[in-house]
Amino acid sequence: MMKYDVIVVGGGPAGLFGAYNAAINGKSVLLLEKNDRCGRKLDITGKGRCNVTNMCSREEFLNNVPQNPRFLMSAISRFSPEDTVAFFEAWGVKTKVERGNRVFPESDRANDITKALVTACETVGVVIKRGNVSALLVDNGAIKGVRVGKAEFFSDSVLVACGGSSYPKTGSDGSGHRLAESVGHNITPIRPSLVPLVSPDKLCRDCMGLSLRNVGISFYGSGKKPLYEEQGEMMFTHFGVTGPVILSASAYLRGDFPFKMFIDLKPALDEKTLDKRLLRDFSENSNRELKNGFSALLPSKLIDPFVAMTGIPPETRLNSLTREQRTTILSLMKALPIKISGTRPIDEAIVTGGGVDCREIDPKTMQSKLVSGLYFAGEVIDIDAYTGGFNLQIAFSTAFVAGNAM
Ligand SMILES: Cc1cc2nc3c(=O)[nH]c(=O)nc-3n(C[C@H](O)[C@H](O)[C@H](O)COP(=O)(O)OP(=O)(O)OC[C@H]3O[C@@H](n4cnc5c(N)ncnc54)[C@H](O)[C@@H]3O)c2cc1C
Repeated sequence: MMKYDVIVVGGGPAGLFGAYNAAINGKSVLLLEKNDRCGRKLDITGKGRCNVTNMCSREEFLNNVPQNPRFLMSAISRFSPEDTVAFFEAWGVKTKVERGNRVFPESDRANDITKALVTACETVGVVIKRGNVSALLVDNGAIKGVRVGKAEFFSDSVLVACGGSSYPKTGSDGSGHRLAESVGHNITPIRPSLVPLVSPDKLCRDCMGLSLRNVGISFYGSGKKPLYEEQGEMMFTHFGVTGPVILSASAYLRGDFPFKMFIDLKPALDEKTLDKRLLRDFSENSNRELKNGFSALLPSKLIDPFVAMTGIPPETRLNSLTREQRTTILSLMKALPIKISGTRPIDEAIVTGGGVDCREIDPKTMQSKLVSGLYFAGEVIDIDAYTGGFNLQIAFSTAFVAGNAM
């Protein structure tokens, strides 16, 4: 009979770091990863550069966790972003801090982070095996081991660190949720977060492929207060919109679609200044038609769809525009409306919203309140954060707590 002190299911950042922490406490640890190598998702994080954590205070950190931040309070205090950086530096990965306190490996290679975690595990004696865990073995309310095909591996401590359901090709295909559910855990509704957004608007298809840099974006639900406002880069696609600010915004769109999105095409100019600029541009080109009056103001791909949205005939001469028509143009430039009807599927989401219900996990140990000896860490739990390195830090902090508790 193969018995270990600890079995870890999943070789992502949470599984590897949990296994390492259990092993440095002198435990014999078996880590089972279904892929032929660990950290496949980790390798593609941060566009292959891996935004490994965020160097901010605990308060700021928790402000970036819209789902269940209080659950994380203790874990983040015990293993902070500074601790993450110190761990990787100790295992030979130099790091650098970029805009918004985002930390990356100096090499800009996510795989250096994966390699450091795997090397750390191997050095402290973690046994890493390929295996797709299909069942948890539970007896009398206590964990006894796991099943892989026909084989069984036994342990009184099992850490489920299988990730969420997004990017299933990397291995995290929701099987952690199914394992947790099979032993009685509640799984809160799964939804995509940090995901491109779908729009039925013709504008998106007309402008497909166009990137807008330094635009202001705002989102509204049924209320008057914006749900999200930010400046940055976005892109039109055949299905709607994507790009950094769009992915970030998606995490704030909770509740029922549709939502309204507005693009401020000239965020650096207030309305008065922009109006003066329009007057100047239009008077310098007064004999031109409206459709030819925006070359200095808008990217060329956007001009025809924009003019169509003003409702003003494109052949109208600039010198014959009424004040009312100019106001329409101005308003659209400051708030170009786009209807957001939904998100792209969870496969395309950076993180999974929802997961193992936090109310059923002890935040001081990450142990299940339903099955003794069963632990959770990482994205399998119902916690998700905004972009900026917060999601990986959550994986490390929860894994630290679980690894030490086991
Ligand atoms: C494209 C992309 C970019 C991202 N960029 C960033 C970033 O820059 N910064 C950041 O903080 N976050 C980023 N994230 C989010 C981050 O990658 C995840 O939050 C993080 O990987 C979660 O870690 P985890 O260990 O919980 O799960 P995962 O990394 O998903 O690892 C789970 C592992 O478990 C294995 N597994 C699953 N089921 C089983 C089973 N039944 N048996 C055995 N093994 C199993 C899987 O194969 C996988 O290797 C990004 C995500 C994506 C998709």
